[in-house]
Amino acid sequence: MVKTILITGGTGFIGSNLCKRLIQDENNKIICVDNNYTGSLDNVRDIIDNPRFTFIEHDIIKPLNIDEKIDEIYNLACPASPPAYQGDKAVFTTMTCVYGAINMLELARKNNAKILESSTSEVYGEPLVHPQVETYRGNVNPIGIRACYDEGKRCAESLFFDYNRIYGTKIKVIRIFNTYGPLMDPNDGRVVSNFICQALRGEDLTIYGDGSQTRSFCYVDDLVDVIIKMMNSEDDFIGPVNTGNPGEFTIKQLADLVIEKVNKRNNKNLKVIYKPLPADDPTQRRPDITLAKSKLGWEPTIKLNEGLDKTIEYFAQRILSEEQKLVNV
Ligand code: UDP
Repeated sequence: MVKTILITGGTGFIGSNLCKRLIQDENNKIICVDNNYTGSLDNVRDIIDNPRFTFIEHDIIKPLNIDEKIDEIYNLACPASPPAYQGDKAVFTTMTCVYGAINMLELARKNNAKILESSTSEVYGEPLVHPQVETYRGNVNPIGIRACYDEGKRCAESLFFDYNRIYGTKIKVIRIFNTYGPLMDPNDGRVVSNFICQALRGEDLTIYGDGSQTRSFCYVDDLVDVIIKMMNSEDDFIGPVNTGNPGEFTIKQLADLVIEKVNKRNNKNLKVIYKPLPADDPTQRRPDITLAKSKLGWEPTIKLNEGLDKTIEYFAQRILSEEQKLVNV
């Protein structure tokens, strides 16, 4: 049976990886919606001419009307990198989370479609429970510089559950932890892309703070697996469910690993430099994925070591082709 699947944020990092996976199934028609603020059509260039793929340039802050019947919605649209979602974009970020959720929930309601919300580990804020379980209610600073994203996503979660309670909308909520891999934007500002691009260009790696803060990094193919599994899970399992890799590393460990790998490849004399830690930067983060394992039969398969190799290869090609473009200008 043919399924029409709408993906907001479809030209972004995770969205474009999801589009590429879902289009492989001949029964899927994909409608990719994005305002291309942090996404790019380059990310979907190789599938844009597929007759089962449609791109709509649209900002989900505004309502969206689609003529054809939609079966599933993956709501991924939102800038997710701190430098992209903060500063003068903060109000826009909250609006994307909140108005975007309402607009997409309305679309789901009209179509009787299933809708998946990409929430975030940021709902736990500076966590006092470690590793983070879904029942933990978090420790978010509601007036800090990350609040636009954290509280925006928390409000989106509550909207999803209210639509489910009030209208019976078929919802699924996942909380995505740090994710990396091909199709990340080199200028996105997040730690994995920054470190790898700095290393490949022979620049110093910028550690914010003393590098003792931890994160858990999930390779994007593993994440796409669990997103699809969640959408296809039993109707009564609505989440929220943590989706991430429980391997926990300090930021200094990550920098050392990237330096070791890129030094082997390029024989550069790379080093780290320290910069101030941004406000409200969480000290530690690691998902407890017991729920995802038991309800979805999912756990990540790609370790950081292997995922970093693939990601370094991706960025090396990308930097090379961008340099060649400059030479040809
Ligand atoms: N970070 C860093 N150097 C960078 C970019 C980020 O040390 O060039 C740190 C950042 O302060 C945070 C961690 O790496 O502690 C992860 O940052 P990222 O922006 O990737 O995601 P977050 O988990 O903070 O949303």
